[in-house]
Amino acid sequence: MKTRESCLICQIVGNKVPSYKVYEDDLILAVVDVNGANPGHCFVIPKNHYPIIEQVPDQELANLFSVANKISSAIFENLKVQGTNIFVANGIPAGQTVAHFMVNVIPRKENDGVNLQWKTKQLTEEEMSTVELKLKEQIQNVGVGKIENVEKPKTILENAEIQPTQSISDDDEEDYISKQMKRIP
Ligand SMILES: [Zn+2]
Repeated sequence: MKTRESCLICQIVGNKVPSYKVYEDDLILAVVDVNGANPGHCFVIPKNHYPIIEQVPDQELANLFSVANKISSAIFENLKVQGTNIFVANGIPAGQTVAHFMVNVIPRKENDGVNLQWKTKQLTEEEMSTVELKLKEQIQNVGVGKIENVEKPKTILENAEIQPTQSISDDDEEDYISKQMKRIP
């Protein structure tokens, strides 16, 4: 496990700082943020110390977002909210305050005062094509493909609140899906 002693998140991972854990497996931990934007704000972290998203291996990244998705569902089911933001601050100008990558899952209600909105910027056609050109080729060459042998993370923390979203019987499936569809904007 890659850890850094001076890192607060690594101290949470190593149980040197107490935390409210809602999920844990071999490589991932999710805790309730004591200084969250709203009650139930959780962050999902790799146990390895990676400061930014670019350093997180694809497999761990896939699992981190999978856990974030399940926590988001648990928040919907149990905290009576109307939405969630699944949010990453990557780099200091983007608002990252701790040098350990994390995925925030923020419960949202209408008019809750949490502001993640931005003013749109109108680009000229030339600016748009320049940006497109600069990004397109490099993105096409990074070789994003299927992740082989995606393993489901093993839960070692029993958490009843997360379980219902992971085990849906066939009978409930239709109801569940129609319920989830209502959440799609
Ligand atoms: Zn760390």
